[in-house]
Amino acid sequence: ELSLSGAKMAGASGLRSIMEDVAASTADASAGEWLNLSVGNPASVPEASEMWRTALADALSEDFGRASCRYGPSRGSQVLIEAVVDYFRRTYGWRLGPDNVVVGPGSQMLCFAAAALFAGPGARGERKIVLPMVPDYTGYQGMCMHAGGIVGVPPLIERQGDHGFRYVLDLEGLSRRSDIGMMLVSSPGNPTGRALDRADLDALTALAAERDVPLLLDQAYGSPFPRIAEVRTEPVLHDHLIHCFSASKAGLPGERVGFAIGSPRYVDALASFMSNSVLHAPQLPQAALARVMRNGRLDDVTREAITPYYREKKCLAAKLLAEAMPPDMDWRMHSGAGGMFCWLWVDHPWFDDVELYRRLKERRVFVVPGRHFFVDPLSSPALAGHATRCFRVSLSAEEQVLTEGIRQVAGVLREMRAEA
Ligand code: PLP
Repeated sequence: ELSLSGAKMAGASGLRSIMEDVAASTADASAGEWLNLSVGNPASVPEASEMWRTALADALSEDFGRASCRYGPSRGSQVLIEAVVDYFRRTYGWRLGPDNVVVGPGSQMLCFAAAALFAGPGARGERKIVLPMVPDYTGYQGMCMHAGGIVGVPPLIERQGDHGFRYVLDLEGLSRRSDIGMMLVSSPGNPTGRALDRADLDALTALAAERDVPLLLDQAYGSPFPRIAEVRTEPVLHDHLIHCFSASKAGLPGERVGFAIGSPRYVDALASFMSNSVLHAPQLPQAALARVMRNGRLDDVTREAITPYYREKKCLAAKLLAEAMPPDMDWRMHSGAGGMFCWLWVDHPWFDDVELYRRLKERRVFVVPGRHFFVDPLSSPALAGHATRCFRVSLSAEEQVLTEGIRQVAGVLREMRAEA
């Protein structure tokens, strides 16, 4: 029989259904027939693949014995910790020591560990993981082992022109929460690509300090690498901030390596969590990541290949949407250059995100229903009215898949409107 937390973790989630769609669209020989616009896989950018292939091959030939044939430190391998300390000193002038850094098998696990450490029943009562602004990464929702342990603050919505909009952080709404155990935000965000600006970041940091809780900034898409979305506010060091970085979206999702930077009181707890759960992250990819951080390849490939790739892909998607979508329909795309996704809002009563998903799946096309990116959206009619009218399209698909996928989306929207 499953425990209460077991039942929560074994249950369905947005992330689980995305992973199942990934499996379905890659499982058989007819995989090519699926148009998968749902995955968070990084695009295959040739320069990035080449960088990782070389770094992994070098690590295999030179570090195999040290890295793969014995256990290593739970905090992360010495070579990567030193590379991180050095890289952030060069890049931002940060003065870090090894006790400010912890490595994990991907940022998902680091965020999960932080969620377990800082939310749940404790000396100050029941503390929650608070997402300061939903929609945010659907994978956060499985991070809390307690039912109701994660909550999201709905955004303010600003319409822009005929087909644009943006979310605005509702600081007042966030400040009203008295149960914050940790704040968790992706910046630039999944699904919108929106990065926190200086004012947002300062306000969130001040709130974290006032409540004496960590603010975890998940920079899977951010600065200094892989810069998949536009970032105007570079990260800063603060006692209450935990920064999380990952090699995944720079092209190495399968090898599971990421790291967090923060004050030792948070980082030590995370390192212990790694010991208790996974022992440590895989060491060959740690050696490869250390290499590309040290030799400048990661910065070069980010600047010359990854950032331009996604900027161009976003422009292409915007153009395809403008051509394919019915002009008299109230469809809107969240603003911002770059990002791995298009986040779309169809503001009509006949639209339903799950119905769109179902109809597209019949045509062997995957997108992600918007509601997965909000926490418990159906509990509030106002939020449900927005969340169920959104969906996410991934930009990492090949150009012809994106083109045909968007054509199919527009076709299904016309069909749904005609039947209403
Ligand atoms: N954080 C965000 C915002 C993501 O979108 C993803 C993956 O889609 C992850 C974390 C997971 O990253 P990793 O592969 O580093 O665990």
